Amino acid sequence: MSDRTDTNGARPRVLVLGAGFAGIGAAQKLHKSDVDVVIVDQHDYHTFQPLLYQVATGLLDQPAVGHPIRDLIHEQDNARLHTDRVTGIDLDARQVQFAELEPIAYDYLVLGLGAEVNYFGVEGAAEHAFPLYTLPDAVRLKDQVLRMWEAADKHPDLIEDGALNIVVVGGGPTGVETAGALAELYNGVFRKDYPDIAEDASRILLVEASPEIFSMFKQDLRTYAVDALTKRGVEVMTGDVVESISPSRVKLKSGKELKAHTLVWGAGLQGNALVQSLGLELERGNRIAVDGDLRLPSHPEVFAVGDIAAITDPKTDQVLPQLGSVALQSGEHAGETIAHLAAGKETKPFKYRDKGTMATIGRGSAVVQMLGGKSMKGKNAQLAWGTVHLALLPTNEDRAKAVVEWAGAGLTHQRSARITVET
Ligand SMILES: Cc1cc2nc3c(=O)[nH]c(=O)nc-3n(C[C@H](O)[C@H](O)[C@H](O)COP(=O)(O)OP(=O)(O)OC[C@H]3O[C@@H](n4cnc5c(N)ncnc54)[C@H](O)[C@@H]3O)c2cc1C
Repeated sequence: MSDRTDTNGARPRVLVLGAGFAGIGAAQKLHKSDVDVVIVDQHDYHTFQPLLYQVATGLLDQPAVGHPIRDLIHEQDNARLHTDRVTGIDLDARQVQFAELEPIAYDYLVLGLGAEVNYFGVEGAAEHAFPLYTLPDAVRLKDQVLRMWEAADKHPDLIEDGALNIVVVGGGPTGVETAGALAELYNGVFRKDYPDIAEDASRILLVEASPEIFSMFKQDLRTYAVDALTKRGVEVMTGDVVESISPSRVKLKSGKELKAHTLVWGAGLQGNALVQSLGLELERGNRIAVDGDLRLPSHPEVFAVGDIAAITDPKTDQVLPQLGSVALQSGEHAGETIAHLAAGKETKPFKYRDKGTMATIGRGSAVVQMLGGKSMKGKNAQLAWGTVHLALLPTNEDRAKAVVEWAGAGLTHQRSARITVET
């Protein structure tokens, strides 16, 4: 058991695992509380996942979506951060194990470890697909795309083999945003970068298993999204399932074989692998079921928040989606609840404030669906997307930086981050 001096042992210790929207939200709500907050994340940065696709397509540089976690707790005297990998959680012993740190005991635990990619057992996916869930994933995808174009420039015969084609799997927001952004990259700056490569030398295909993309949106928004993608040159293939992936071919269940040296996986998530070792009954997608306070019914000192949790909205009786605003609000609620418990005050159940479901498709093109059924599309929807997502950024400085970068990219269409840096 840890006797670390980063907490004085005299007051309750709140151990926050994961410094995503959920973990940071929880930690920040404890800043005035008489507790010691210990945050552990495997990285020293907080990732802004909604903009990963912009890193993958060279629009934004890495620091625009990764913020030093230490910055976020500079003003919080009762909080400390350690960068390490969580390797085990013993709920009965109230203790967490790490790759390098000594085990740390807790009075309250906040599980904010997020989700991870689910390949649904598709042959070759783990080896050859490019997921888009972490900052290294985004950089890896960007490097792959740039490498393919440079290779095709040197060896034009690769084009015939599909070197420049990209298959994006999944017609949800991640897949659609990525396909749209890749198409803008291909049809924009790449036309000037590679003037000798013909316009029809590359394809971007979006493959979705269900009959339509954007199943979470109303029909008119789905139709709008297909039109917006098609206008950008994306080929939308619905009702077909990826069966296997090799370095240069994608086989579909229908028997079709697509030539593509890059496959982006945006088709599914599951709870962090660690949840399987907790001895809990898990909900769909390996998510942890929580009560109205976001606690584990079997261990009320443990809170599960963000993507790792299955939070049922009492208003709709539906499990809330894995979204940034759900993660931030649930994390903040857990922090507030712990602050109340530590102060001997009453707690309140979690209430989600729905800001609408939204996704961007490309420049000037987005969709928003509000709770009451109202919807928006086009530039207004993109503005609404920007407003809601600015609120998710961790500091005012980040918000200001994002506004400048988004405005700059929108005006100049520049993608100055399209360089590969070998280390
Ligand atoms: C490509 C993409 C686009 C998205 N777009 C949107 C969008 O437009 N709007 C929206 O609202 N939501 C969007 N989302 C969803 C949103 O980003 C997530 O719901 C949100 O980030 C979840 O927050 P979290 O804190 O639960 O988990 P995360 O943000 O995943 O944070 C989990 C943290 O835990 C750490 N961690 C994990 N395992 C370990 C371990 N073993 N040891 C130590 N640390 C560990 C990770 O390093 C990470 O920092 C998008 C997601 C993706 C992937």
